[in-house]
Amino acid sequence: MTVLASGSKGNATIVAAGKTALLVDAGLRCRELLKRMAAVGEDPAALTAILITHEHVDHVAGLSVLARRLGIPVYFTEQTHRAWVRMMTPKTTMTYAKWLEMREREHAAAQAAENTPIHAPAHTVMAVADESESVLEPTLEPDPDDDTPVAKKDPAALPAVEYFRAGNNFSIGEIDIAPFTIPHDAADPCGFVFHARSESLRMAIATDLGYIPPNVKMALKNVDVLLLESNHDLEMLKDGPYPWSVKQRVLSRVGHLSNAAAAEFLSHDYDGGAHTIVLGHISESNNLPELALLAAEQAIANRMSLLGNRLVLASQSEPSASICL
Ligand SMILES: [Zn+2]
Ligand SMILES: [Zn+2]
Repeated sequence: MTVLASGSKGNATIVAAGKTALLVDAGLRCRELLKRMAAVGEDPAALTAILITHEHVDHVAGLSVLARRLGIPVYFTEQTHRAWVRMMTPKTTMTYAKWLEMREREHAAAQAAENTPIHAPAHTVMAVADESESVLEPTLEPDPDDDTPVAKKDPAALPAVEYFRAGNNFSIGEIDIAPFTIPHDAADPCGFVFHARSESLRMAIATDLGYIPPNVKMALKNVDVLLLESNHDLEMLKDGPYPWSVKQRVLSRVGHLSNAAAAEFLSHDYDGGAHTIVLGHISESNNLPELALLAAEQAIANRMSLLGNRLVLASQSEPSASICL
């Protein structure tokens, strides 16, 4: 497992076994993703497929450009794919304020030109921007690198789309994948457990979840590498810069996992069997890496050893060293 980026400004992780290499989320610009892969010696041409956990911008910002450039399939749930297509289609990106402004402009022009009644053009579909999202997960701007003709015709065009469903296992090359539902405010968000058949190793990704429900606790048993969210320190979030509504969103059952909640899982539900636990999606505004690490260390203090339960932090700004078992 190689974490290329983790946090509310972009997420991407490579999971590889044998000749199969999967990119989980593509939440940075294509150019940046390629740069980070080069920095850690990962060959983009060796990627087999891209898997998407959910449609928030910090998980899909570079998706279309990267998938088209590499010519590889993208795996979504159907609902996540639909939500992403809606997001990528230009006619749906207008905010209500912009639509109102445009309508007033057109209205004034029409009145000037003979008082004819005007209507909003039929193709205008409104998508009111979610204020609370914009702080955490910024809106998607067109990628200046994306000058392919196909992008102009259909920004959501992909080389191939494959659907999976949470709870239904599937395989890509040498890796078996078990997607599981996570509680988060997206269309159909998922975490994954990856089973490398030949090495008999299991790797799991569980970030972007408001709390850890029983199905996630079950999924995270017997894993060798665990990427677990440790998003915020509760005190820092409460005293921090976010508006009240965003604090409520982060804290909610469909928000993000706090250091305390991650520690609670590690001390009470985690089976202690992992070689490495990676703490990820660490907030830059409401957390400190040291606080996340300390909470997790205290939670598994008596179980850390040379062979197991090594704790590492995933970074937003740079790729982390590959975890090789
Ligand atoms: Zn996220
Ligand atoms: Zn999210």
